[in-house]
Amino acid sequence: MTNQVHNDVIIIGAGAAGLSAGLVLARAQAKVLLIDAGQPRNSAATEMHGFLSRDGVPPAGFLAMGQREVVSYGGAFLPASVKTIEVDHRGAFTVNMANGAMAFARALLFSTGLSDELPHIPGVRDRWGTLVHHCSYCHGYEVLDKTIAVIGGPVRELSLKQAGLLRRYSDKVTLATNGIELTRAERYRLEAFGVRVVDGIVSHLVGQPGSLEGVALANGTTIECEAVFIAPRQRPNDGLLRSLGCEVDPVTGFVAVNEVGQTSAPGVWAAGNVVTPTAQVITAAGNAGASAIAINAWLLHKDLDAASADRQ
Ligand SMILES: Cc1cc2nc3c(=O)[nH]c(=O)nc-3n(C[C@H](O)[C@H](O)[C@H](O)COP(=O)(O)OP(=O)(O)OC[C@H]3O[C@@H](n4cnc5c(N)ncnc54)[C@H](O)[C@@H]3O)c2cc1C
Repeated sequence: MTNQVHNDVIIIGAGAAGLSAGLVLARAQAKVLLIDAGQPRNSAATEMHGFLSRDGVPPAGFLAMGQREVVSYGGAFLPASVKTIEVDHRGAFTVNMANGAMAFARALLFSTGLSDELPHIPGVRDRWGTLVHHCSYCHGYEVLDKTIAVIGGPVRELSLKQAGLLRRYSDKVTLATNGIELTRAERYRLEAFGVRVVDGIVSHLVGQPGSLEGVALANGTTIECEAVFIAPRQRPNDGLLRSLGCEVDPVTGFVAVNEVGQTSAPGVWAAGNVVTPTAQVITAAGNAGASAIAINAWLLHKDLDAASADRQ
């Protein structure tokens, strides 16, 4: 189905960021279409934490509530995956979806999130979001006083920080280095802080499906634990942004945006995890709300230009 409406804004990705922008734009009387592939990053988790007034709600319920709010103000929603985007000579966008549908807009907001690359350790993927976590702010409180294993990963600074942060929640924290080389000072500081450091490569997680007993090392030993933390590499879902020629920050490797999410491509904004990997749900939503206001101002400017040109 093609959305024949010439939208002011198409929002690609309707997680916390996209929905937040959609709400602001729909209330501002912009014609807004949200297109979403239905894969929000935290879908594996049973509860969402740290969002003031919504702490502990299921992620899917939170998004369903947001979607209802956007639609109640006239925002449109399409469940679909965007495959390609074309820009014409006037700077207007045609958005092509995997199901063959097309939609049109004057401006785009990308809130397509990021993908966590889980380590290929048997037992991790099926416990992701329930017994295997990545963020102490999201699920540290839920493992208070439990026996915790942190598995070293490719983002070594994050693994070391996780081990230190989690020590605040429990005095039974073990860092399985899993190939990370610790300097003498790093090891000393963690051990002095009460983190047990165990060298060895992790082979698999131990326990029946849906439960967790420990982290098995290739040397045959097992670190007993009730929860595991990992630091996955995070890949922004920014292929479409790059296809539009958006500049990339050479330091972070993420698409470069200003403080309101404007990219270097005219009419293209980005907010949430796709450009800010550290954003929690509440910050992704907040950043996108600011982008929505900036986009609306940009559209107004264009409308004023067009109206005054018509009048001459
Ligand atoms: C297991 C887990 C638990 C977490 N728990 C918490 C927590 O408790 N509290 C917290 O604050 N944060 C938590 N987070 C972080 C949280 O998931 C992110 O902060 C949040 O999802 C970022 O929102 P976003 O809108 O930027 O991206 P997302 O929520 O990931 O939304 C992006 C959307 O874009 C869609 N999309 C992508 N590409 C396309 C395309 N081409 N076409 C159409 N749609 C597309 C996706 O399907 C998805 O629906 C958790 C993360 C994980 C992995």
